[in-house]
Parts: sequence; C-alpha cells; structure tokens
Amino acid sequence: EGSNPSEAQMSGAEVIAQSLKTQDVNYMFGIVGIPVTEIALATQKLGIRYVGMRNEQAACYAASAVGYLTGRPGVCLVVSGPGLIHALGGMANANMNCWPLIVIGGSSERSQETMGAFQEFPQAVRSSIYGRPGACYVDIPADFVNLQVNVNSIKYMECCLPPPICMAETSAVYVAASLLRNAKQPLLIIGKGAAYAHAEHSIRKLVEQCKLPFLPTPMGKGVIPDNHPNCVGAARSRALQLADVIVLFGARLNWILHFGLPPRYQPDVKFIQVDICAEELGNNVRPAVALLGDINAVTQQELASQKSLPMNYYTVFYHVQEQLPRDCFVVSEGANTMDIGRTVLQNCLPRHRLDAGTFGTMGVGLGFAIAAAVVAKDRNPGQRVICVEGDSAFGFSGMEVETICRYNLPIVLLVVNNNGIYQGLDIDTWKDMLKSGDATTVAPPVCLLPHSHYEHVMTAFGGKGYFVQTPEELQKSLRQSLADMTKPSLINIMIEPQAMRKAQDFHWLTRSKI
Ligand code: ADP
Ligand code: MG
Repeated sequence: EGSNPSEAQMSGAEVIAQSLKTQDVNYMFGIVGIPVTEIALATQKLGIRYVGMRNEQAACYAASAVGYLTGRPGVCLVVSGPGLIHALGGMANANMNCWPLIVIGGSSERSQETMGAFQEFPQAVRSSIYGRPGACYVDIPADFVNLQVNVNSIKYMECCLPPPICMAETSAVYVAASLLRNAKQPLLIIGKGAAYAHAEHSIRKLVEQCKLPFLPTPMGKGVIPDNHPNCVGAARSRALQLADVIVLFGARLNWILHFGLPPRYQPDVKFIQVDICAEELGNNVRPAVALLGDINAVTQQELASQKSLPMNYYTVFYHVQEQLPRDCFVVSEGANTMDIGRTVLQNCLPRHRLDAGTFGTMGVGLGFAIAAAVVAKDRNPGQRVICVEGDSAFGFSGMEVETICRYNLPIVLLVVNNNGIYQGLDIDTWKDMLKSGDATTVAPPVCLLPHSHYEHVMTAFGGKGYFVQTPEELQKSLRQSLADMTKPSLINIMIEPQAMRKAQDFHWLTRSKI
C-alpha cells in the first residue's frame, strides 16, 4: 500500500506549503502551535524560509516588510485566538503602509469532506498585491492541516502574476505636463509608493531632464539618493511652503505631509496626485490633476509628454547637453536662451565659455564663435565650437554666417527659435492678429516673424542647414553636425513661442554652493 502513485497521500499542511511555493511566496515569519506547526514544517521542507519569532506582532511586521521589499507578500503564521489578535497590529500597520501581507491562522476543527484545490492562496496573493497593496487573512481549519488527501485530487492554482500595469488618462497626463512646465516653483514629493513601484529610474530621469527639485518622505528616501543636487530635504519646510505645483508620487497628504494644507503650503498650491488607489485621489485636498495608475508607468507617460511638441528650452538644452563634447567652446547670447542655457550646458574647461558678458551685448556671438574657431584650429584641431543663439540675438550679426562659410570654420550654430524677443507668437495667432489691423499697429513689439527659416542663411553660403521641431530631429541633426568637421552648420530649433524659464528663486538648489 502507498506504493501505487495514484494513491499517494499528502497532508493538508503539505498542500498549503506547496500552494505558497506555487504562488512564489518565499518568506514566512511566525510562532508555531497547534495546528499550524505542521504548516511551518512543511513550508520549510519546500525551501521557503521560515523565521520563528517571539511575538506574532513582530512576525507580522517582518512579513509585511518582506512584502514591501520584494513585491511578493510575506506570510505571517499564527495560531488562532491570541496569536491572531497579536498579529492584528501588524495587519493594521501593513494596511496603513499599503504593503502586501498574508496572515495564515489555524482555527479550530471543522468537518470537511475533501480539500481539493486550495483556492484561497491565489486569491490572498492577488488581493494583497493588486490595486493598493495590503494585508490578507487566510483562516485554515485545524482538520485541513492534518487531513490526508490523494495527491491526484490536488490542483494547484497557477502562480498569481505581478499586478498588471495601468497608466493614467492621456489628457490628464498632458495637463499635468503643462502645469509642471509652467510652474514657477515645482516640487516632486517622492513617497514609499514610488519606492514600492520601483520607479527610481523614471523619476530620476524626470528630475534631471526637467531640473525639478524633489523631497522624499521618510521611506521615500533613497529612491533618488539623498545627496542628489536636486534634493531639497535639508530645506523641507521652505520647499513645501514655496511650491506652486507639487507632484505627489505615491505619498498621501496625511499628517506626514501636513494634510496638504496652509500654513505649511501655499493656499493655492496645485497638486498633481499620482496613485494606484482611486479612493486616495482627492483625499484632503482637491488635486489640480489626478493621475490614476502605476507610478512608474505614469512617470514614463510624463516623460514622453514632456518631450511633446513644441519643445521648450529645457527639452532643447537637455538634448544638447547630452551630445556636447567635453572640451568644446560654448558661445551663447540671447535672453532666455543664454540664461537657461547657462544653467544646463556644462563647461569643463576655463576660457571656453563666451557670452553677452558684462555689457549684456547682443550681436557678439558670431564674432566670438569665429574667434574661438580660429584659435581652436591652431591649438587643437578637432575641437568644436557650439554657438547657442536666441532667434533675436542671431539677427544682430547673422550675416557673419557668410564669414564662417568663407573660412569654412567648423562651428555648430544653434538658433533656439521662439519667434521673438523674450517670447513670440505661434503662426496661427500671428495670422489671426494681422486680420485685425496693420502689423505696425497690432503686432506686439517682442514678436519676430513666426516660422522664420534661419537655417537658409547657412545653406545660402554652402553650409548645412537643419529645421527641427522634435527632440528626435534635434538629436539627429546635432549628431550629424558634430560629426562633420568639414562644414559649418546651423540648426534652427523651433520651440514653444511662449516658453519661459522657471522662476529664479530656487534657494534650495543653490544651497550647496553657500
Ligand atoms: P509616504 O508615507 O511615503 O508619504 P504613503 O504610504 O502615504 O507614502 O503613500 C503611498 C501611496 O502609494 C499609497 O496611497 C498607495 O496607494 C500608493 N501606491 C503604492 N504602490 C503604488 C504603485 N505601484 N503605483 C502608484 N501608487 C502606488
Ligand atoms: Mg527668441
């Protein structure tokens, strides 16, 4: 008897252990007693780690932390009655923290006909990790644990997959992107939801690409390292108080964040709330934008829409900086172009930046670039000169492009074109405006002709000209221009006509220089 495989028996405890293993549950914490001792033994036998603790409360805290750290729920194993009651503290804590957890309690006997498939576990695992993560309780009657069942009668449910990734509504993402872009004092708050979501890479990209200051909550610390230059942890109160647009990445507006209310925040601060839990959206404060979805996915949506068109100064300089040769000369003039470019474009060598200077002179750029190129030719052939011009600034000495072409100087001219001085109008608004009167009476003095093809100034003299409107076109034309030392080039980069720089008042970003 027993040698016939079709009659092989298995205990309920072994079925439970195998079910857990099938669900990719790898850690169990608990205190054994009747009837759950058998479960602990069977579990350990299958290679699931079992840690015997001294109080169920600590066991439950441990199991919930494993869920946070690994994304698969840890198990807390307890006996019924006092064991379960002790575990309640851990379950409540897991729920409040939004951490997945499974508590298994052994209760008294019930008469059961057969065990069959153990349906509880896939359900428990699923509800602990899907939606907002939290605690789950599975009650196992004592007679289940010791029951002998025919192996063939058992069907294990397939391992519950990680939660499907959901993204936020596209239009809401777009609104959030433009709010963020136009913010004077933006701030990202990074919570433990972001940590749990493994959103570190995408959030870091957003922080760096858009030059955003961020503040971690206590357990959001480390998603981006605390020593990152954009971390405002050291000026927490001030950062909260001054922000006009705040993105909440997996952090609730509870007591930890002073409920999102004045006087800790501006009364009219706009919150962009990112959370996987719909019920959380609008809690305490009505958000300007609610982004329901997985933080990592939503951050990537935001990144994609930050790249959306038309580009702004930050998008342009981000892509330029990515390709800037370390030893190049950077010549720059313009208003926003020069100011924002200075903060984003890096110089590594002395005497390699030339700009409008003490006198704030417009029209110096091409002359300076020509000088740098001539000097570079003698000293360090192969060294590039990048001349970053606003469209207005370029106009002051644009004809020097002929000089550049005549001497065939390998200068890469970037014209950051917003159709105006400080800012301009898009072509449709411009055309509409002309209907209402003569340009001399209706055109704002800051406007230049929209959609001007400054790159033709370069092609007119035999250099290379590019007209770019997307980050991809910018990347490509810049790569080509930098690779080709035989010819000068001009890249006319169309940006949002109303694009502005962010407010100057980033005390916190400069604090490390004090
Ligand atoms: P903190 O204490 O760091 O401020 P909270 O616990 O208040 O963080 O907030 C965490 C939030 O993260 C919860 O509202 C939870 O619903 C949310 N969350 C958890 N996982 C995800 C995820 N993958 N995507 C989006 N939000 C998540
Ligand atoms: Mg301009």
